[in-house]
Amino acid sequence: MTFSTLGLSETLLRTLDEIGYSTPTPIQIKAIPAVLSGRDIMAAAQTGTGKTASFALPLLQRLANGNSVKSNHIRALILTPTRELAVQVAESIATYGKHLSLKSSVVYGGVKINPQMMKLRSGIDVLVATPGRLLDLFSRNAVKFSQVEILALDEADRMLDMGFSDEIGKILALLPKKRQNLLFSATFSDDIRKLTTSLLKNPVKIEVSPRNSAARSVRQWVCEVDKSKKSALLSHLIRNRNWSQVLVFTRTKNGADQLIRHLKSENISAVAIHGDKSQGLRTRALADFKANKTRILVATDIAARGLDINELPHVINFDLPKVPGDYIHRIGRTGRAGLQGEGISLVSADEVKLLAAIETLIRQTLVREVETGFIPNHKVPLTRQTRVRPKKPKKSKQGQPRGENRKTASEQKQDSSKPRNAGKSKRTAGSREKRRR
Ligand code: AMP
Repeated sequence: MTFSTLGLSETLLRTLDEIGYSTPTPIQIKAIPAVLSGRDIMAAAQTGTGKTASFALPLLQRLANGNSVKSNHIRALILTPTRELAVQVAESIATYGKHLSLKSSVVYGGVKINPQMMKLRSGIDVLVATPGRLLDLFSRNAVKFSQVEILALDEADRMLDMGFSDEIGKILALLPKKRQNLLFSATFSDDIRKLTTSLLKNPVKIEVSPRNSAARSVRQWVCEVDKSKKSALLSHLIRNRNWSQVLVFTRTKNGADQLIRHLKSENISAVAIHGDKSQGLRTRALADFKANKTRILVATDIAARGLDINELPHVINFDLPKVPGDYIHRIGRTGRAGLQGEGISLVSADEVKLLAAIETLIRQTLVREVETGFIPNHKVPLTRQTRVRPKKPKKSKQGQPRGENRKTASEQKQDSSKPRNAGKSKRTAGSREKRRR
């Protein structure tokens, strides 16, 4: 399959050739013809699957064939949950549209509004925006929606998780009724389904990986550890395994700052991005990490949402996320564009409920390991997935267990006294056991 069979114009094919995209990804194969035909789409796809190009390329092609944009108006609106994702999508739009005479721009909060108002004055064909800032600009008459032909919601699930549902409702009410709608979401909760029912008309449904499953190219495992030892374990793993580029997730901003202090005290270069950091600091931190100037990037879920960092080999969950769907988003930062990655969760006993919820969501029991020197005093209890009801031994006629099940009392005692997780990175018995639901 090549891009030329999907109906893209010569100009876009030339651009793709220049940027080295030779083969369309599965979501591109399905979404590009659907969007070109003017249909609404509802796509379940994670970051890393090539979803941005799957809507950006046909969207640009449709706009390139249409009317010119009036001052302060826009023709396509792409909504994203975070500034970082907005910037990335806008960069992709600029790259894919470099040989087209379409104007694109990006607006998001946390920076001065005036330069954004100035840019909108001449009219913009494709505007990438975060919801709050867009409404702010609308209330100042800086942006008008009557020319909008296409709306794309990128990472719609995250927008709802982040509490943007009111803003989205307001924006939808301001847009012309006749338009094409494109909705992308990594997970499909009930709230997302409600939104799709009200928003999309007879959509083409696209699913490129099983719903609610984490990226398959990622080797995922759990490292059991006591809470107090997590920081030490992390620096030990980074050193011992010689990890060069690691994205670490913490649940809180405070947790991220504390971890940075620990890593720096261990002479490991690390920087944090979270909501309390200015946009300038976040952008620089990300650029340094991408350029391999910083070894470790510590991020909270919101700040890290949608980050596109190519060939990221390791993602660490320093804390498990409270919302199980965030696990999928976090792990989606690695194993991208067909590469293998590793997603490791440092799990302490108090997090077992969160672990169980994640395993239920991804329909998978995560392999458990322990690291020499970090064997936990407080074992992480088995989850429902790992727990296996002991088989009742079949009784022989004499009332004795048969075959392999037959053990002497002393053998049985020996078995139960075997240390669990002894040695380096041993898989626990529970992790090897078949899942029972
Ligand atoms: P996305 O899922 O949109 O975040 O894209 C993930 C990464 O894959 C980005 O770095 C894209 O530039 C890259 N990419 C998207 N489509 C292709 C393709 N057909 N061939 C090669 N790389 C691609």
